[in-house]
Amino acid sequence: MGVDQNSIWNLHNKLPSFPTLNKNEQTEVLIVGGGITGLLTAYELINIGLKVMVIDASTLCSGTTGRTTAKISAQHGILYDSIIQSSGVEQARQYYTAAMDGKDRILNILEELKMDIDIEQKDSVIYTEYDENIQAIEDEFRAYDTLNIPGKYTETTELPVETKAAVTMFHQAQFDPLLYIKQIIDVSIKQGLEVYEHTQAIDIEHGNEIKVTTDKGHEIHCTYVVQATHFPFFDPLGMFTTRLIPERSFIYAGKNENPHLKGMHLSNDTPARSIRTAKINNEHAILIGGEGYVVGKNKSSADPYKQLKQTAYTLFPDHTFISQWSAQDYNTMDSIPYIGRLKNKYENIFVATGFKKWGMTTSATAAVLIKDLIQKRQNPNENLFSPSRFELTSSVPTFVKQNSHVATQLIKGKVSDEGKSIDELKANDATTLFKKGKKLGVYKDEQEVVHVVDTTCTHLGCEVEWNTYDLTWDCPCHGSRYTYTGKVIEGPAKKHLKKEEL
Ligand SMILES: Cc1cc2nc3c(=O)[nH]c(=O)nc-3n(C[C@H](O)[C@H](O)[C@H](O)COP(=O)(O)OP(=O)(O)OC[C@H]3O[C@@H](n4cnc5c(N)ncnc54)[C@H](O)[C@@H]3O)c2cc1C
Repeated sequence: MGVDQNSIWNLHNKLPSFPTLNKNEQTEVLIVGGGITGLLTAYELINIGLKVMVIDASTLCSGTTGRTTAKISAQHGILYDSIIQSSGVEQARQYYTAAMDGKDRILNILEELKMDIDIEQKDSVIYTEYDENIQAIEDEFRAYDTLNIPGKYTETTELPVETKAAVTMFHQAQFDPLLYIKQIIDVSIKQGLEVYEHTQAIDIEHGNEIKVTTDKGHEIHCTYVVQATHFPFFDPLGMFTTRLIPERSFIYAGKNENPHLKGMHLSNDTPARSIRTAKINNEHAILIGGEGYVVGKNKSSADPYKQLKQTAYTLFPDHTFISQWSAQDYNTMDSIPYIGRLKNKYENIFVATGFKKWGMTTSATAAVLIKDLIQKRQNPNENLFSPSRFELTSSVPTFVKQNSHVATQLIKGKVSDEGKSIDELKANDATTLFKKGKKLGVYKDEQEVVHVVDTTCTHLGCEVEWNTYDLTWDCPCHGSRYTYTGKVIEGPAKKHLKKEEL
């Protein structure tokens, strides 16, 4: 338990370290955020001869990229039927083409760099164990038919569970994301990429050129900024604060004799399960993901890791435990990512976010799209992913629901506490209480030392809630997360929670 749970990828890969920026700097393109999105974009831009710098608030790939399931697939859940229903066949076809182009780009880079790593070709399968979800699978398969997506409909799968229906998308893939990205970093550095870690971008000033200020008070002057920060840290037009939905999920990994799964699997049931195998250092592993929830709306009291472990033992009874961890991604109002330029005078500032747990293909698509936008070249995906699109038909209900959720949280959090006294707290437990008009979050650690923070999220003032499984304070409004001592881990918040005393 705790925030330092290592993913299977982190356990087996060591990425290079980089210094902290300690002076003012100048570059052509500043990429803020060194996850897969930032690093693939850096690779594309260096290749067209631009001077590129990447800064990361923490270390490279310490965000969601280091904690993903890493299926490289255009099967982004049950999606194509709903895009056809809301936006038409052409939009759905464009989305599929963009996702497949992302997958192909990952494979092309592998060849370009003659990487000595294994990207396993697999089919992607979505299945259900319940009668009431058969229709959704049938509709999705009909969408594949309409869009000529190579695939098949079956009732059974190769998994040792009784399924009712399944839709397969052929010719997808899976990899070890950090093994792949390490090589991208090595090559990009040789080609002149500059990288600074533990360097957080705080603000952007926009004049004749762009000036980005960092947490240590330095300035980076540049012509273009790419916000690859997962949640864009600079949102002058309020485009993302109201339109991104944070979703958190858990992953369990075990060692197993070769599990021989031909496909990567995802259930369309509640709770969902994402299943894949992995080959790491000639050993075989299984990954089971699931128990996802929209941050701030976790109603289940069951321990997500125990639930995943149970699934792992049902599917792979002979495995042994390796590690478990959690991660977060953002969804958008219409389930289509926001990739492209900001509006009006901010048009040299780019974003790529809202990948809804499908960032492997989408980050590669984003990198090419941003490269084309900087070069002022046409790209067929510009309108599909435009961050300033107004998703009138499909997303108004989601917009209203999400923002009334935020409003409710803002008020609810201010007036309610956990009702547990400090004396009742056991080790590794937390509570909230009011003192002198302030709401405090109190966590008792394993040594029974008490850590107290002001629970007001430093992003927009919602009240953070205790996350029992990761031992973190999480904001139910926009997904900012803090350690129990109040240090920002992820999300839009830039400042730590205020430390308090009892
Ligand atoms: C449980 C789970 C399973 C998933 N499984 C899959 C899958 O099987 N297939 C798939 O395609 N996708 C999957 N995804 C989605 C995918 O992992 C993500 O979409 C992708 O990793 C996002 O990459 P990123 O580079 O945009 O963000 P991140 O990897 O989060 O990188 C953002 C970086 O920005 C830095 N940063 C943030 N703010 C600042 C700042 N102000 N200044 C400087 N740096 C900053 C952070 O430190 C971080 O390193 C999954 C996601 C989850 C949560």
